[in-house]
Amino acid sequence: MSPVIPIRSATAEACAPDITTERGQREVFCGLTGIIWLHRKIQDAFFLVVGSRTCAHLIQSAAGVMIFAEPRFGTAIIDERDLAGLADCNEELDKIVADLLERRPDIKLLFLVGSCPSEVIKLDLSRAAYRLNTQYGQGGGVKVLNYSGSGIETTFTQGEDACLAALVPTLKTTDSTQKKLLVVGTLADVVEDQFRSLFGKMGLTDVDFFPPRRSTQLPTVGPGTVFLLAQPFLADTARALENLGAQHLPAPFPLGAQGTTAWLAEAAHAFGVTNAVFEAAIDAPRKRAVQAIGKHRPELQDKKIFFFPDSQLEIPLARFLHHELGMQLAEVGTPYVHRKHLDADLNQLPANTRVVEGQDVELQLDRCRDANPDLVVCGLGLANPLEAEGFTTKWAIELVFTPIQGYEQAGDLAGLFSRPLIRRLKLVA
Ligand code: SF4
Repeated sequence: MSPVIPIRSATAEACAPDITTERGQREVFCGLTGIIWLHRKIQDAFFLVVGSRTCAHLIQSAAGVMIFAEPRFGTAIIDERDLAGLADCNEELDKIVADLLERRPDIKLLFLVGSCPSEVIKLDLSRAAYRLNTQYGQGGGVKVLNYSGSGIETTFTQGEDACLAALVPTLKTTDSTQKKLLVVGTLADVVEDQFRSLFGKMGLTDVDFFPPRRSTQLPTVGPGTVFLLAQPFLADTARALENLGAQHLPAPFPLGAQGTTAWLAEAAHAFGVTNAVFEAAIDAPRKRAVQAIGKHRPELQDKKIFFFPDSQLEIPLARFLHHELGMQLAEVGTPYVHRKHLDADLNQLPANTRVVEGQDVELQLDRCRDANPDLVVCGLGLANPLEAEGFTTKWAIELVFTPIQGYEQAGDLAGLFSRPLIRRLKLVA
């Protein structure tokens, strides 16, 4: 039996679209937003934002009100104060942490999350985390780490990258060259279970997911570790894993039937899974995905879509919408293009696709009006004004909050794009 040959675009390199870079005013959320999906995933972690009242409002309104459970995030509000007041700040922070850990013995991992107000920038949160970790982390106590969710020069999905990159140095390392698979990037538990089952059917049982559901289940990493990225915004995390000897498997991201097949095929290829075993494992779910996607084709085929840069998922989504649903790509804006991680998707876009890295929002709004797309994917700040101008919009942030990866979610993913068009048709009917 021949081993699985991963699906790649044959003429990819020659046809990859050019990337234009823009640097100007940007309209994006900050990295604190990542706390919303990270706290749901790591069930014994707490995210303590060290920030202003604005940060507290952002995190509360993004997360909504949690009625049934005590939330696993909060804000230590640091008010305006001069350098001399910083010693008090550290004392206050220590007191807040002491109260929190006393009240919540379920917390095993505490993140101090930095923000961008100037009084917070003056605080050295890495020293605070080190001090608190020494105090609480002994003998399997509470691990205390820090990262920045600041909105200065970052976009909202980078919060997850910063969080996971802070976790990597705490992973146990091994010299073993025994091959094992690591899937990197926050996935909903249901998606993780589906992928674990598919890998199992291919005979891959030594598979870890990072981040795990509990901080006590952190993976061991070494030269035998090969990792697949489940999210395209994890450049720092990937680099930190590579520094521990792990090897990245370049693959398209697992969106849609084709993306998921290509992603799984890279793992199958790396582990020498035969084609017959691979096909038997994916045949039924792939058929279900193709069928579920097909139901949305009538609404999306030949419709024009315009992406403003926001989630960093734009390039894989554009690949999915163009190849699996027949949409036309008016412009694919994305905050950053990490070529090593995105080439497998980028190379499948039509060569004449306008791909823009970064943003100059006024210029981009003008191009959007000129292109007159049927659907605009953008951040919350642009959605209302664009709707008022008569455009149909989709909030990019929903694509990160919703399980969209894998075969069983492929129909739901297509539905996220067809629903706004159906709603618009009903409104004008
Ligand atoms: S981190 Fe900065 S951008 Fe984010 S809510 Fe706080 S003040 Fe605003």
